[in-house]
Amino acid sequence: METHIASRFQDTPDGLEAEAILRSCVHCGFCTATCPTYRLTGDELDGPRGRIYLVKQYLEGETSGQHMRYHLDRCLSCRSCETTCPSGVRYARLADIGRRLAVEELPASPWRRLREAAMGAVIPHPRRFGALLGTARLASALLPRALRRKLPPPQPRHPWPEPRHPRRLVALTGCVQEAATPATNAAAARVLDGLGISLQPTPGAGCCGALSLHLGHMAEARDFARRNIDAWWPALEAGAEGVVASASGCGPVLREYGELLADDPRYSERAAEIAGRVRDLCEVVAAAGPPDPAVGAGRAVAVHCPCSLQHGLGLGGVVEGILESAGYRLTTVRDGHICCGSAGTYSILQPAMAGRLKKDKLAALEEPAPDLIVTANVGCQLHLATEARVPVRHWIELLDPGHGVGRAI
Ligand code: SF4
Ligand code: SF4
Repeated sequence: METHIASRFQDTPDGLEAEAILRSCVHCGFCTATCPTYRLTGDELDGPRGRIYLVKQYLEGETSGQHMRYHLDRCLSCRSCETTCPSGVRYARLADIGRRLAVEELPASPWRRLREAAMGAVIPHPRRFGALLGTARLASALLPRALRRKLPPPQPRHPWPEPRHPRRLVALTGCVQEAATPATNAAAARVLDGLGISLQPTPGAGCCGALSLHLGHMAEARDFARRNIDAWWPALEAGAEGVVASASGCGPVLREYGELLADDPRYSERAAEIAGRVRDLCEVVAAAGPPDPAVGAGRAVAVHCPCSLQHGLGLGGVVEGILESAGYRLTTVRDGHICCGSAGTYSILQPAMAGRLKKDKLAALEEPAPDLIVTANVGCQLHLATEARVPVRHWIELLDPGHGVGRAI
């Protein structure tokens, strides 16, 4: 695509990267067919090609930017368009640049500022989020029914096995997951322990920075990355093989730490090193060999593969392969490439679109009458569970039948 970047963006890191991305797009429009928001509205500007064009116009100085912001806000950052694009256009990077410029250059309404500040003050901080969740559960009788339905039921906090193996991995325990679904990390630690790998929690590590990044708050995202690097580095230097994320939504951000801190002389090297040593949980389990084929006992499971896993990390089909090897019967799920509408804070900020996507996703998942739905990301799990007719859990729990949900279905 021919571009004429405005002089104020020329030779800036954002301008140079955006120009390269814009030039790689040939405007063919193949990506629109697999874009969930375009499928909902039919509006070209709610699809990737339209959004690319809006960022281009902004960088060329042709618009005020509010139009760009409106349609970028409606984008899920699901990256389905990147999977479809035959030219390898890095849409998500371009969208992040557009969002960041919008934060830096456009006026935001007081309501927008308040809403983002409130989310940023609570969601990435497990203790604060846990306290809010606990309070909401105590007061649930007073809450409106719609809000009550969103509260995840409490999960038991099973202990982690003591570290005992020479092979060790550092855990990204996460923020929301740590508070809302603690069973996931405990199950991951037990399953990996059984595979001869100790999963090591690291006090001091926290949110991966995804929430800040997707809201365009770069400085905050970088601070989260630096904090995690400081927390993980001693364990990696002491022999841990890498960092494992059990929430797939964190993986794509962790893999971008090198780019995120490229201009920070104190952190750039360690950030790039860590980015190359990040593994999603399913990669680790799949590499460890086939699981016990008797665990699943033929029970019917519908897998929702999160966008972060299939489009962000390119690991579609890995969880499905593990569960089939473990003896579960996987149901066929139509439109598996389409987002469920969770998408980080999207379900809070764009409830109407997110609600329609959730309804469609649950119809596809529940049509073949599974005993259970599993996924790989806490956001999808909580979002789908609010209206699902069957339990929605993290897939790792199915390999942990002694403690997890595997024994309950
Ligand atoms: S992003 Fe890719 S698929 Fe979409 S219009 Fe550009 S080149 Fe075509
Ligand atoms: S990231 Fe997802 S919602 Fe956004 S333009 Fe691409 S396909 Fe559409």
